[in-house]
Amino acid sequence: MTDRVARYMGGGRVEIVAEPQVDLPPGGLIVRTEASGLCSGELMAWYMDKKVPHVLGHEVAGIVERSDDDRFPVGSRVFPHHHAPCLKCDECARGAYVHCPQWRSTKLRPGGMADRFAVPAENLNDTLRVDDLRPIDAALIEPLACVVKAFRQGGVAWTPTSKGMSGRPRPDFGINGISGETVKRQGAYLPHWTQDGGAYHVVFRLADSIPKSLAEEWHVEREAFDRGQALSPAEKARYRYLHTERVQRALLESHGACALRSPEAAFKVVELLRNRDGIDYDLVAYAVMPNHVHVLVKPRKERNLADMVQAWKSVSARRINALVGKQGELWQSEYYDHLIRDESDLHRVIDYIKSNPGRSAGLDDVPVYVVDSGVGPSEPRAGAPGDTLGRGAQATSVAVIGLGFMGLLHMFLAPGARGYDLNPLRREWAANQGLDAVHPDEAMPAETVFVCPGSQGAFDLAMKMVKPQGTIVMFAPLPPGEDLRVPQEAYFKDITIASAYSCGPDDTAIAAELLRAGIVRAEQVVERFVELEELPSSYVDMRDGKILKAMVVWPES
Ligand SMILES: [Zn+2]
Ligand SMILES: [Zn+2]
Repeated sequence: MTDRVARYMGGGRVEIVAEPQVDLPPGGLIVRTEASGLCSGELMAWYMDKKVPHVLGHEVAGIVERSDDDRFPVGSRVFPHHHAPCLKCDECARGAYVHCPQWRSTKLRPGGMADRFAVPAENLNDTLRVDDLRPIDAALIEPLACVVKAFRQGGVAWTPTSKGMSGRPRPDFGINGISGETVKRQGAYLPHWTQDGGAYHVVFRLADSIPKSLAEEWHVEREAFDRGQALSPAEKARYRYLHTERVQRALLESHGACALRSPEAAFKVVELLRNRDGIDYDLVAYAVMPNHVHVLVKPRKERNLADMVQAWKSVSARRINALVGKQGELWQSEYYDHLIRDESDLHRVIDYIKSNPGRSAGLDDVPVYVVDSGVGPSEPRAGAPGDTLGRGAQATSVAVIGLGFMGLLHMFLAPGARGYDLNPLRREWAANQGLDAVHPDEAMPAETVFVCPGSQGAFDLAMKMVKPQGTIVMFAPLPPGEDLRVPQEAYFKDITIASAYSCGPDDTAIAAELLRAGIVRAEQVVERFVELEELPSSYVDMRDGKILKAMVVWPES
């Protein structure tokens, strides 16, 4: 048996090669990769060319396929850090995990850009269960943790227990079962009607959910409707009536075995809906009922609704059947869809989906999800910290130089920060996320300046804008042979110059919490989601600055 592996061959060339599958390490895990981000550090030729033929990828999330550790059972989703400390030595005792002698020697084998990888037992010192995160968000844990560390190194604190974080709605699916509360999504917006394509209200249901006679009637009418012109306006109105009233009412009577009443089965559906959210489509709302599922969804460009629904049904059927030990048809082959006509139609359907659980008797733990419609790009995000920054610094006095992927993560962690980039496309991307992004010519004084590009020029800009007694944090190294020149002025201005290299288990734990709180979502910082075979060209595009960030996503298996 072989797996596909992405190896860096030097000179910017990446090859996808087939290699023997890795063995289960004693006390470790075998993980089937779900998502793997391409790290900007892996684009630096001077750093990479000495590692050839290096296997790319360390921003990963995946499903445990084999396990030799009870904390990470088969089937659970994990984030494993590629470097993990021993937690016993003096460096670990003082929290300097990155400087633990074990840290550098640990690695994922063969690496994160592979169909499967092994997590040695030592790496489990920094491996997290992340069943409740989407894979594409869990793959942000490692880079976000590096930013968390940079904030700490710079004396700017941001922890999930701080005041700014409390009161944020949290998704609560997964490990602890299914929560009945409405889950609001941060930083997401309802679809705009001026954009291409529409949103659909989709209902699909279990095969035994409606008495056969009614199902046949539905089917016949559906076919007539599909033939379109044959129906008079009155007949079309009747058709709509049938679907929105009578059929829905029939569904709410909870006919059949109601397999989705089991939280485990319902979660299989929820998990599937969420996995490609932000990639193939944008979820607006859903409700998983005992015998049917409502989804309000906006397919992304080129994506076909019928294919999406087919994928949800076939994969969830396989998983739910495996769960309950059954075979055969789980879902009714037909599904209902309704193209949203306008804004008021949208809100009507959202209200309908929200109220759906209440209409079906005896339900108090139905997974319902509705995008927060009150959040818009120009409004400040909920929970702006202000008083959570260390040393009395205000959020507005944080500056971020360089608005690539890492710079954006800094920005999301410090609401109110001002970001700088020479590249207008990057400024535009940031502005579209509701962030304050300007040209360096508009530099404003800031107490803490995060410098993302490893260059003297970026540091010089930071020196210009840092306030007296302020801090400059260098997030990336200068190329070898280049040493940072610090002007004499830095002494008389009492400037602290800090640096931040990688991250430890304390940082990854905070990063996972921040992602659970919805502080940033993958599609806000990743420009291109690709399959493994497309990585070689995306590598070149990302290196050449044509795209902000690429992430490899594996298809549902
Ligand atoms: Zn990295
Ligand atoms: Zn140690």
